[in-house]
Amino acid sequence: MQEKSTLLDVNDLKTYFYTEDGIVKSVNGVSFRVNKGETVGIVGESGSGKSVTSLSLLQLIGASGKIIDGQIQFDGNDLMKVSNKEMRKIRGNEIAMIFQEPLTSLNPVFTVGNQVAESIRLHQKEKKDEAKQKAINLFKKVGIPRADKVYSSFPHMLSGGMRQRVMIAMALSCSPKLLIADEPTTALDVTIQVQILKLMKELSHEYNTAIMLITHDLGVIAEMVDRVIVMYAGQVVEQGDVFRLFEEAKHPYTQALLKSTPNIQGTNEQLESISGTVPTPFNMPKGCRFHPRCPYAMKKCENEEPPLIKQTDDYEVRCWLYEENEVIR
Ligand code: SF4
Repeated sequence: MQEKSTLLDVNDLKTYFYTEDGIVKSVNGVSFRVNKGETVGIVGESGSGKSVTSLSLLQLIGASGKIIDGQIQFDGNDLMKVSNKEMRKIRGNEIAMIFQEPLTSLNPVFTVGNQVAESIRLHQKEKKDEAKQKAINLFKKVGIPRADKVYSSFPHMLSGGMRQRVMIAMALSCSPKLLIADEPTTALDVTIQVQILKLMKELSHEYNTAIMLITHDLGVIAEMVDRVIVMYAGQVVEQGDVFRLFEEAKHPYTQALLKSTPNIQGTNEQLESISGTVPTPFNMPKGCRFHPRCPYAMKKCENEEPPLIKQTDDYEVRCWLYEENEVIR
């Protein structure tokens, strides 16, 4: 039975980038939470702010970026107040991250076994031989065949799917409370995608690790997550239970995303593309950011930015169409 207490609580997060062309407000007032052991999906087109949100949590936004405002509580720690040293410890021990292309995270000059064993030695203070055995066991756990042979392979000798399994083994070597996975299967072919997602789900149940899954793919969301956060132009526009969202998406952007995604409900309905393009950071529309693309836009939408409107205790939507349903407590 999984615990339901809050692990991560993000409130009104704002992350801006200072460029020669001006300020890019990549994340602009994002709030959400992740419970212990839960899988939460963040979905949106590129430029929606979903990756910057996760990098902000880990304070990995680079020199030109700055967290301007907001609160990030992680398992009793205020991440906005921890020192760089403490943050490095949290990144290594409590929050792990896997990316789309493992080659960028794996060191090409060391064998994959060596890299995972080093991580085990670092986090679990194990001796060399024991760390090696634990790494091989982890490789078996994540479904790597001939694990002891693969231990001595260099990253370039493995397929994309195998490299991603190595990254998952690496992430598990520190028994993280939260695993952030940013498009972890996008570069893989469909069969391998399914295997990796299944593996992540099984391991999250076994280790009670919460997963924050970042993707542009609603099909992946449908397979994997308990709750969904839909982002558009740096804001959360809808969030709540995954079944409810797929049954009765409320925000016109989410509805359009669903209509543009093949085969989620197994129907053969014709796919529709979302008209217009995502606004650039330097040309953000006034009022609702989706209004130039929205088929239901009203006068009010052009001038007034909608807040996140609570529909039930655990379901929110940023759209003026639903202000009448607001739950006020
Ligand atoms: Fe469309 Fe208006 Fe709702 Fe924005 S607030 S999504 S423009 S109806």
